[in-house]
Amino acid sequence: MDKIFVTKSSLPSMDEYIEEIKSIWDTCWLTNMGEKHNSFQEKLKEYLSVDNIELLVNGHMAIELTLQSMKLSGEVITTPFTFASTTHAIVRNGLKPVFCDIDKDYFTIDADKIEELINENTCAIVPVHVYGTICDVDKIDKIAKKYNIKVIYDAAHAFGEEYNGIGIGNYGDASCFSFHATKVFNSIEGGAVTFDNKEIGNALYGLKNFGIQGPEEVSAVGANAKLNEFCAAMGLCNLKHVEENIKSRKTIYNRYMSNLSNLNGIILKKDQVGVKSNYSYFPIVVDENLFGATREIIMSALEKEKVFARKYFYPLTCDFSAYNGRFSECDVSNARWVSNRVLTLPLFPDLDLADVDRICEIIKKCKN
Ligand SMILES: *Cc1c(COP(=O)(O)O)cnc(C)c1O
Repeated sequence: MDKIFVTKSSLPSMDEYIEEIKSIWDTCWLTNMGEKHNSFQEKLKEYLSVDNIELLVNGHMAIELTLQSMKLSGEVITTPFTFASTTHAIVRNGLKPVFCDIDKDYFTIDADKIEELINENTCAIVPVHVYGTICDVDKIDKIAKKYNIKVIYDAAHAFGEEYNGIGIGNYGDASCFSFHATKVFNSIEGGAVTFDNKEIGNALYGLKNFGIQGPEEVSAVGANAKLNEFCAAMGLCNLKHVEENIKSRKTIYNRYMSNLSNLNGIILKKDQVGVKSNYSYFPIVVDENLFGATREIIMSALEKEKVFARKYFYPLTCDFSAYNGRFSECDVSNARWVSNRVLTLPLFPDLDLADVDRICEIIKKCKN
């Protein structure tokens, strides 16, 4: 039996990709905002239903450079229940992450606990639409307005999602997307920022190209974060299939749901009203007291059958040894509880429903 990993990269047919990249041999333009880059950017703008977008080399630089573009200093309220990138982007900007606990039902930042963490040093909130679950954008927006602070969403998991019929990239001051190979939609590596204020776009355009604003003008200490033409071409091809891929994901997601929803001790992601989901991840939270076995037991049982689930997200980012305990003073007990029990199951468009059933049977056999 073949190994089943937590995700599998989506690819167009080889012919499709070759057709798309042929013109690169005519122009010999490989990077630096070429034809593919610009056309990919326009197509994404349409797909995400946003007015403003800037393409970047990956999702991490999207977050890092967006924070830099806003010239922030001080403290940033964020979630520890996320991928390393979110917190690293804050720290690499010389900002201090202040960790807010998560909502136990939705795994996103608990908007009711944000306000008590705000002080005169707070400059921004960086929430994460973790697993594609949308944060309480209405409440977060209200808080940000009240205190005049920025909101930058890590939307790496939320590609193509909508809330109340509005593209998710329209919320907050900016939203950062990732097109990494492992995500719902990929351009091999890639990322984008959607934003409401054109000044952010101008700044990002400079920052992704060494801060160069003209032939003799370097106005910012930028980085190199340009998306190359081959990646943009992959994005153009994959974008044509993303809707059908999300549809397949939905079928698989629903199969997991019906298999696991009545299993005492297995907590599943809650559906959200008014959200068009992309079905990006299928996390389960194993309450060992009710289930009679831990997530580790389930994980090894799956591994024995060559199924490789992952502990997304464990450990919490506030516990990373990289930070030497500098930011560990925080009350994040819900995040810790979930992080210690979560297991993300395989989910990708061509995962067989028979394999989904098999995975669920292995989990059920662990129950005591
Ligand atoms: C993948 C991911 C990122 C980083 O995106 P890259 O494109 O891999 O740089 C940031 N935040 C979250 C939550 C992610 O899952």
